[in-house]
Amino acid sequence: MKLELRGITKRFGPLVANDHIDLVVQPGEIHALLGENGAGKSTLMNVLYGLYEPDGGEIVLDGEPVRFSGPGDAVAAGIGMVHQHFMLVPVFTVAESVALGYEATGPLGILDLKESRRRVRAISERFGFDVDPGARIEDLPVGAQQRVEIIKALSRDAKVLILDEPTAVLTPQETDELIAIMRQLRDGGTSIVFITHKLREVRAVADAITVIRRGRVVGKASPTSTETELASLMVGRTVSMAVDKAPAQPGEETFAVRDLTVLDPAGNVVVDGLDLGVRRGEILAVAGVQGNGQTELTETILGLTEPVAGSITLDGTELLGRGVKDRLRAGIGFVPEDRSTDGVIAGFSIAENLVLDLYDTAPFASGPALSPQVVHENAERRTQEFDVRFTSVDDAISTLSGGNQQKVVLAREMSRPLRLLIASQPTRGLDVGSIEFVHSRIVAERDGGTPVLIVSTELDEVLALADRIAVMYRGRVVGVVPGGTDRDVLGLMMAGVPAEEARAQAAEHHTALGAADEEEEATA
Ligand code: ADP
Ligand code: MG
Repeated sequence: MKLELRGITKRFGPLVANDHIDLVVQPGEIHALLGENGAGKSTLMNVLYGLYEPDGGEIVLDGEPVRFSGPGDAVAAGIGMVHQHFMLVPVFTVAESVALGYEATGPLGILDLKESRRRVRAISERFGFDVDPGARIEDLPVGAQQRVEIIKALSRDAKVLILDEPTAVLTPQETDELIAIMRQLRDGGTSIVFITHKLREVRAVADAITVIRRGRVVGKASPTSTETELASLMVGRTVSMAVDKAPAQPGEETFAVRDLTVLDPAGNVVVDGLDLGVRRGEILAVAGVQGNGQTELTETILGLTEPVAGSITLDGTELLGRGVKDRLRAGIGFVPEDRSTDGVIAGFSIAENLVLDLYDTAPFASGPALSPQVVHENAERRTQEFDVRFTSVDDAISTLSGGNQQKVVLAREMSRPLRLLIASQPTRGLDVGSIEFVHSRIVAERDGGTPVLIVSTELDEVLALADRIAVMYRGRVVGVVPGGTDRDVLGLMMAGVPAEEARAQAAEHHTALGAADEEEEATA
């Protein structure tokens, strides 16, 4: 089916999320929709899927204009969507989930599971998916859950399949499997809209590329474009992908986590006898697919969660048993994963947010109250140093863009002498320009001798920053390898394969992404 979006416009109040977007997807084509976070990709696809009514423009399928008043209409017209965040119910079986998809109800409104199982088997056979219709969703690995979402769409005869950032939750090897599936679907005549902000994936799989920036189409690109070309199109200026960084000069290990075990509220082991050490003047990055205990690890280091066993020492002093504030005082700088809940206080001004953790210490406090002038001067200085774009430091922090809020958090956390810097997903949601800046500040902190612990699910970020990489899988460190370790090796480790075995396996089998990588190096 040929899909055309003509002049799609979608506003959220004053914000124009999609501004006259044109997109043509040919039958049997993998069309990459590339754009930074917040560019308007999901919004456009939600319009196409009937979830949002556009403020302007039209959707044309095989030459016929269509109007969707809900996802039901879109599905009936042959459009399927796998959302950025899956929408499967964990306790259902595969067959039940798929049956729900097309409302296969038999007499008395009971789900027709027999028919559903038949469809799951037929589709699995056709595309070589290894999915058991009787398996429970919660027991399946993420990659398999995603395949169920795809089966669900195909069982409703999707001719156009939208995949919204499908690789965000996958290891490189799982991504490779997904790419194989996408190619097979395409060769069978399905059109695919593949949304991503990862350049190497686009180069590996796309037949055509449309780049959007701030709600507008800024260009079309060919799959033979280099990463640098795609990046400049996506960002609007030339970007350097590499972090300018000298080799680390590590000193002694001053931060150590030993045999740490943490349970979640339901009593499941989420950090499992974990060991980790960071030396002065080095960046240790914890890599892994999200949900393998990274969040709980950082929360436990800061004191937001208490472990059931283990020890955490900074400069030889035990941190466990001490309060959060006490740990921050001990010299921990903490950049949280989710800045909106842990990083800033929305109702406070930029200036106030810059002294959140210091408000009762000199020189900011004189007596019990804050000294407004000192707080103000501090804000002027920090915002300048960290290149925060704002109107007035007295404005509420919520008036700033995500990238600028993140710079405020960094400015606050890095504006005092640190004995340890922990940054979790330090650049999530930032534009490439801000990412460069944040990375260079983190490296500068390292070069000043601070031990730095980075936690990131973005392999590109890990590879850009890390002097050493600890790969985390199911609450444990699978292995610690040097910075710059091969992507394929890291990918296998992210699935639990020990380092040595991962090296042997990776030497045998290169992923498509690894191949794209080499091609890029060869042409560079
Ligand atoms: P992308 O998928 O490219 O990361 P989105 O389409 O999710 O971007 O978002 C585009 C812009 O629209 C962002 O600025 C985002 O904050 C805003 N936005 C998205 N959904 C909504 C919504 N439901 N209400 C208000 N603003 C939204
Ligand atoms: Mg999105």
